[in-house]
Amino acid sequence: MGSRDERRRHNLVPLAALISREMKSEKMEKPTLRYGYAAQSRKGEDYFLTKTDCQRIQGNAASAFSVFAIFDGHNGSAAATFSRDNLLNHVLGAFPRGLGRNEWLQALPRALVAGFVKTDKEFQSRGETSGTTVTFVIVDRWTVTVASVGDSRCILDTQGGAVSELTVDHRLEENVEERERVTASGGEVGRLSIVGGVEVGPLRCWPGGLCLSRSIGDMDVGEFIVPIPFVKQVKLSSAGGRLIIASDGIWDALSSEMAAKACRGLPAELAARQVVKEALKTRGLKDDTTCIVVDIIPPDNPIQPLPTSKKQNKLRALFFRKKSHDSANKLSKKLSAVGIVEEIFEEGSAMLAERLGSGECSSQSTTGLFICAVCQVDLAPSEGISVHAGSIFSMSSKPWQGPFLCADCRDKKDAMEGKRPSGVKVA
Ligand SMILES: [Zn+2]
Repeated sequence: MGSRDERRRHNLVPLAALISREMKSEKMEKPTLRYGYAAQSRKGEDYFLTKTDCQRIQGNAASAFSVFAIFDGHNGSAAATFSRDNLLNHVLGAFPRGLGRNEWLQALPRALVAGFVKTDKEFQSRGETSGTTVTFVIVDRWTVTVASVGDSRCILDTQGGAVSELTVDHRLEENVEERERVTASGGEVGRLSIVGGVEVGPLRCWPGGLCLSRSIGDMDVGEFIVPIPFVKQVKLSSAGGRLIIASDGIWDALSSEMAAKACRGLPAELAARQVVKEALKTRGLKDDTTCIVVDIIPPDNPIQPLPTSKKQNKLRALFFRKKSHDSANKLSKKLSAVGIVEEIFEEGSAMLAERLGSGECSSQSTTGLFICAVCQVDLAPSEGISVHAGSIFSMSSKPWQGPFLCADCRDKKDAMEGKRPSGVKVA
């Protein structure tokens, strides 16, 4: 007797094993998260999201992660609120089932791309014309993953005073590569010209006059304004760090360094307010101005904020002195103690085929059917079109290999690459 019971009991093992393996792999303890936000509205088109109770495995508190995001809308707020309400679910829906923590983090960049494109496609199908920037930050213990379109920046400040940018600004004025891509895909880039032919203001894309090269929404501007995010994933050292996520109302007034310096030594709640205050002091309230500050704090050091700039200089001096007579091995240990950040992933290409990769694991659903890598609909065997088909990549990878796209998403991909006029569907 009991052989079936035994088998059933055995069936329970994988999940338990998975959880215990994850607990064991947790060599460093979990950091504490503290966050604060502040906003000053002028047009009422900035929205944000803070969600600290997400779970990779429903009901398993050990699988918790947090999401922080800013959506800076233009030409109305519908795209911003739609993205705030749907993007997270679309990203989570793009994961294959049953992934462990490390596999999940590895699959996250691709899930973010799929989630952004699906959100854009769904929003555009509603026929609304507004658009939004998105800066979407997922914090899973010491690993920070940022996906962004537009110019709402996310910066990282670490112990030792190194400030780094985790996003790139998708602004036509500052981003040559993006300017070339938009032009090659059929967009026209130029400045606003006023009476007498005098050109004023930043470079914009015509028709529409948008200054950004990537966004969610913006159906009336053209599909070459793509929703494919720049994605960067980093792992912080055990010294933790501070994230500052803010809309361009901040970054038009303050450099990344200035914003980081302005709030060092303050707890997150006050820090966000201080950054907004500092930006307004410099430039006045010309735009919606939103800021989220997230502190990732080592467990043995739960309330000590980042050092102020004086202390930080001392730390830096100490570190450089060490450098001259320490062996390489000792030095690298010192580096991680001071706050060296490990870069895990970075990709900014606007080509969907490059971003969805050759992931075999994501192309098959649990029912054994193929699914669209973007919108996750089931595909009949004859329906799926490889993301690589007809592209330059079909030389090196096999066009019958996944990931696959449904006909609709394939249309969207072609339009984004300028191979098909926007808004025109092939019957
Ligand atoms: Zn699809």
